[in-house]
Amino acid sequence: MARADGVRAGAASDVGRVRSSNEDAALVGSSVFAVADGMGGHAAGEVASALAVEHLRALDGRPDLRPDDVLEALAEANRAIRAAGLAHPEQAGMGATATGLALVRFAGSPHWVVFNIGDSRVYRYAGGVLTQLTADHSEAAEMVAAGALTEEEARYSRFRNVITRALGVHATTRPDQWVFPPVAGERFLLCSDGLTGELADDEVAAVLRDVADPEHAARELVRRAVDAGGRDNVTVVVVDYGLGDAEPDDTVPRTAS
Ligand code: CA
Repeated sequence: MARADGVRAGAASDVGRVRSSNEDAALVGSSVFAVADGMGGHAAGEVASALAVEHLRALDGRPDLRPDDVLEALAEANRAIRAAGLAHPEQAGMGATATGLALVRFAGSPHWVVFNIGDSRVYRYAGGVLTQLTADHSEAAEMVAAGALTEEEARYSRFRNVITRALGVHATTRPDQWVFPPVAGERFLLCSDGLTGELADDEVAAVLRDVADPEHAARELVRRAVDAGGRDNVTVVVVDYGLGDAEPDDTVPRTAS
């Protein structure tokens, strides 16, 4: 499928081995990519994550997209989730994480904007190095930042599951945002915590290194997370920028920038 400016992407999701429903949602557009992880009883989490993705999808393909537009879409999603929770008592208290990246215009040229609210993550993989770009909004991550827990302790801490920011929870939202120019040959991984709770970084990096096609890479990561326990819903989006075509019959045009 053709995408903007040499971008190729693919996604996969699985309910896992424990949960009865999949409350994650993913967006693979032409220039906007996202993962949302819903929370709330009576399937309300599915409603919240779908609303988050729906508001981000409205941005997709806009050539004049600005970083502030992404923040505004997240604010609108926050309002929509809260309004739905007020209108439907069984959905009260539902929320969703939202993280991803979008191609925007900034300082007169294409840039990535990476955004995050909650504990889903965006990683960048380039030159054999996997780097977590987003900071989790969880009590465990904030305790690490405060020096109260080590990274290793945080990985198994009960505070890991306490989210400090999410869409739908408060009247105003405070997503994080990073803006930087694209670099040919980079690969991004967007994922819900059902991936990072099951697989260590080196295993994730090995799949991103070895599986060239973005959709195949997403499927392989999800498969491994389910095999490793699948204790949560797991959702992965892989986005490539300026990489060689993965398949011989691929006719997607791309710009080598
Ligand atoms: Ca989750």
